[in-house]
Amino acid sequence: MDINTSAGPTGAVRRAQAIVVGAGFGGMYAIHRLRQEGLSVLGLEAGGDVGGTWYWNRYPGARCDVTSIDYSYAFSQAIEQEWTWSEVFAAGSEILAYANFVADRLDLRSAYQFNTRVQTIAFDDARRVWTLTTDQGQRFEADNLIMATGPLSLPKPVDIPGADRFKGELYRSGKWPHHAVDFSGKRVGVVGTGSSGIQIVPVVAETCQSLTVFQRTPSFTLPMRNKKVSEDYAAQLKANMAGLRAAARTTFTGGVRPLSTRPLFSIPVEERNELMEEAWAKGALQFLGLFSDLLTNAAANEIVADFVRDKISQTVKDPVTAEALKPRGYPIYARRPCLDTQYYETYNLPHVSLVDCFEEPISAFTETGLRTSQREIALDVIIMATGYDALTGPMLAIDITGRDGLKLSEAWRDGPRSYLALLMHGFPNLFIIGGPNGPSILANYIRLDELNVDWVVDCILHMQREGLATVEATAEAQTRWSQTVGEIADRTLYVKADTWYTGTNIEGKPRGFFVFAGGLNRYAEICAGVAAAGYEGCCFTAR
Ligand code: NAP
Repeated sequence: MDINTSAGPTGAVRRAQAIVVGAGFGGMYAIHRLRQEGLSVLGLEAGGDVGGTWYWNRYPGARCDVTSIDYSYAFSQAIEQEWTWSEVFAAGSEILAYANFVADRLDLRSAYQFNTRVQTIAFDDARRVWTLTTDQGQRFEADNLIMATGPLSLPKPVDIPGADRFKGELYRSGKWPHHAVDFSGKRVGVVGTGSSGIQIVPVVAETCQSLTVFQRTPSFTLPMRNKKVSEDYAAQLKANMAGLRAAARTTFTGGVRPLSTRPLFSIPVEERNELMEEAWAKGALQFLGLFSDLLTNAAANEIVADFVRDKISQTVKDPVTAEALKPRGYPIYARRPCLDTQYYETYNLPHVSLVDCFEEPISAFTETGLRTSQREIALDVIIMATGYDALTGPMLAIDITGRDGLKLSEAWRDGPRSYLALLMHGFPNLFIIGGPNGPSILANYIRLDELNVDWVVDCILHMQREGLATVEATAEAQTRWSQTVGEIADRTLYVKADTWYTGTNIEGKPRGFFVFAGGLNRYAEICAGVAAAGYEGCCFTAR
C-alpha cells in the first residue's frame, strides 16, 4: 500500500497507517508483517542501512554470544533453509550480512527512509494520530507507532574529560567507523571490560605494538570455544529446524541449551566440580544451565564464581594481573555474562598490560593519551568500550509526548512503566518491541522481537476488525505488571550488582532491574493469554 503525502501546516506530511522506528531485527520484522497484512507502512532509521546494533557495532572481534541458529529469524522456513551460518557463534559481519540478505529477500529497504533520526513524537489528541519530526526537517504521521529502537542503541556519553584534546584516533565500540582500522605499530588503549571490551582486546592485541586495557569493574567471562559449522552439521540443523524452534519456544531464554533442575548443594562436591570442569572445557553457554539455583542462591553462586576465579589464576601468569582480573563483590551472572576467545590468555603477551582503574582511575584525556591518578600513558589509539544508556535511553532520547501532553520522560521519571513491555498508559497506539519490563536482555532478542511484533500486529488487526481507533494499557494493568516485574526481580541476584542492567552506569538514572525475569516462555504465555482474553488490561476507543 502506498504512503500518502499531503500538505500540512508546516509543509509536506507523509502519512502511513504504521510507522516503525528502527531497522534492527525487530523493526525489519515489523515492516514485513505489517506489509503482509496490507497496512501502509514506513520505517525510519538513523543508520544508513538495516542491521540495527550490527550496523553500528563493527568493532574488531564483534560477535554474538547467542548461537547463530538461535539468533536468527524463525518466521520464515524459506529463509531458514536458504541461509547457512558458517560458525556456531557468528561474527558481527556475518550477522550484518544476514540482516542484509533478509532485507533483500523481503524487499524491506523500500519501506525505509535511512539516515533519518526521529527527534520528536507527539500524539495529536483531536485527530488521534502520532506526528513525528526528524533531523531531516520532515514531518510524518501515523495511526500506529512501533518503537523498535532496541535496548542498546544509545552509547553512554564519554565521561572522561578532555576527549577533544586527544590528537590520536578515538573510537567508540558502539559507533565503529565503516572503514578498516589498522592497529599495526600503534599503542592502543581500550577503556572498558564489558562484553565489547572483552571481545576487542584479544583481536587488537594480535596486530598492535602495545595494548593497555583500562579496567574498572572486571567481568566474569567464560570461554566461547567457537567452531566452524560443517556442511553435515548445517544440513542436520536445517533438517531439524522445526523441532529446534519448537524446543526453543519452551525455554526460559528462547534458545536451545541444557538447563539443570538440580540445585547446586544437592550435588556432591566432586560431581559438581566435574560438572563445572566439563562445562569450562566445552565452553559457551553450558555453564549457565549447570545448577538450577545459580541466579537465586548467593552461596551456590559464590561456589561457581570461585571456580571461575581459580581458572583466572590458572590462566594468567602474572599473579598481580590475575588478581586484578578477578571479579569480586557481585554475583556471577548478575552482570551480563561474557563469552570470550583467549581473553585471559591475552594478558600473558608481553605487549599487553592492565590498568586497574579502581587503584588508578583515569582522570582525563591528554593530547597524547590518557592521564590516570598516577601517570600519563601515551597512546596512538583509544577505544572507548564504555557501554550504553541501555533499555530506556533510546526511547528517552526522543522527545515523546503522549495523550494530554504527557511526556515519556515524566511517565518514566522513576523508572520505565509499561504493560507487558508492549503498551503504555497515556500513549495510545504506541507499541514497543523488546522494551523495558519485558524479558528483554535476558532473552534471545530475535525470538522476543518476533513474539512482540506478532502480538502487536494481531492487536492492530483486532482493532481494524472491531472498528476501534486506539489501544493503550489501563493504569491498573500497567501498575500490576510493573509490580510483578519488580517482585520477580527481587527474588533474583540481578538486583545485587551495579551494572547497566540496573541502570547504575548512567548518572542520575533510577536504579532498578526493569526486566521480566520470569522467562521468555512464561512471558509468551502471558502475552498470548492477554490477547485471548480480549486484550485484558487494555482500553480501546471506538472509531
Ligand atoms: P558494558 O557491559 O556496560 O561495559 C562497559 C565497561 O566500560 C564497563 O567495564 C565499565 O566499568 C567501563 N567503563 C565505563 N565508563 C568508564 C570510565 N569512565 N572509566 C573506566 N571504565 C569505564 O558495555 P558493553 O561492553 O558495550 O556491553 C553492553 C552490552 O551489550 C552487553 O552486556 C551485551 O548485552 C551487549 N553486547 C553483547 C555482545 C555479545 O553478544 N557478545 C557483545 C558486545 C555487547 P564499570 O562497570 O565499572 O562502570
